[in-house]
Amino acid sequence: MGSSYTKKSDSDVAAMMAAGELTAKALANLKQAIKPGVSTLELDAIAEDTIRSNGGIPNFQLVPGYRHTICASINDEIVHGIPSEKTLQAGDIISIDCGAEVNGWNGDRAITVIVPGAENQSRQMLSDVTHGSLWEGIAALYLGKRLNHVGVAIESFVEKNSNYGILEQYVGHGIGRSMHEAPPVYNFGVRERLPKISPGLVVAIEPMLTSGSPETFVAEDDWTVKTTDGGDGAHWEHSIAVHSKGIWVLTAEDGGETELAKFGIKPIPPKG
Ligand code: MG
Ligand code: MG
Repeated sequence: MGSSYTKKSDSDVAAMMAAGELTAKALANLKQAIKPGVSTLELDAIAEDTIRSNGGIPNFQLVPGYRHTICASINDEIVHGIPSEKTLQAGDIISIDCGAEVNGWNGDRAITVIVPGAENQSRQMLSDVTHGSLWEGIAALYLGKRLNHVGVAIESFVEKNSNYGILEQYVGHGIGRSMHEAPPVYNFGVRERLPKISPGLVVAIEPMLTSGSPETFVAEDDWTVKTTDGGDGAHWEHSIAVHSKGIWVLTAEDGGETELAKFGIKPIPPKG
């Protein structure tokens, strides 16, 4: 990690669009399938089928020791939940993380959904603030000078709008030929001087928030990250490219146009 990372050319970024689009498609299919009674293993199968039938590889299966296509984290689980026979209940808060590799390039995205059928305003608010903080971070990737600005933007948005905890042990990352590359992308301010934001920087920004204390532990399955106080978790993520003409949110269906309009930013697709 540290400040050196592999820069992507505009044609690299253009090539990454297919991986981002397929990742978005998988998550769109998952979102539609989320309802009471569905198991997270069934969701995993939907994601794998979407990715493979469109010529991609589920890149989570390439992570050593992991054999699933998604991570599915319910209620007090924040990230890295393993799909199982356990079924969703109305009002659960579920975060799903998924990625596709296409032509050797990677996409990585996460969404949080409140399982339909029962209102849960506090869970909805946790998801909404996490989602809002992700887009603050993406806007800072356009407006800021250093990657530090992304973390500061996320942290200040969360503090202004809530008392939620921000996970510190788990952070975003560069993305490209590998799903996880340098540099790290923090969800809070750090003293370390991070890289300047410049064309060729492609990152996954992924705030992970908790309704109470940000203290966590890893469950007995060696993967699932849970809150120590039993509070809820939420996780939103996008993969975003900075290129010579501007920025493009690779894993958003519209490149980020709708959300970034709120910041007066117009994303531009890269030309190869
Ligand atoms: Mg992810
Ligand atoms: Mg990621």
